[in-house]
Amino acid sequence: MPPLDHDRCYSIVKNADRRFDGWFVTAVRTTGIYCRPSCPAITPKQTNVEFHHTAAAAQQRGFRACKRCRPDASPGSP
Ligand SMILES: [Zn+2]
Repeated sequence: MPPLDHDRCYSIVKNADRRFDGWFVTAVRTTGIYCRPSCPAITPKQTNVEFHHTAAAAQQRGFRACKRCRPDASPGSP
């Protein structure tokens, strides 16, 4: 898989672009939660987020799935 471009991912998340659901998840360091790109929650500061290809990768780093957008149930995740 190609590496995720931070700026590009962030602009996708800012626009809550559903087309990218399942392509990557947004993990928020301040809350310990990860989300789909289309999550209705407020977009956190760019310095507080990291992007992972899969929900599993985010969970391995200790993040929990968001209860609003359920990224662990998104297509393409194990
Ligand atoms: Zn969410």
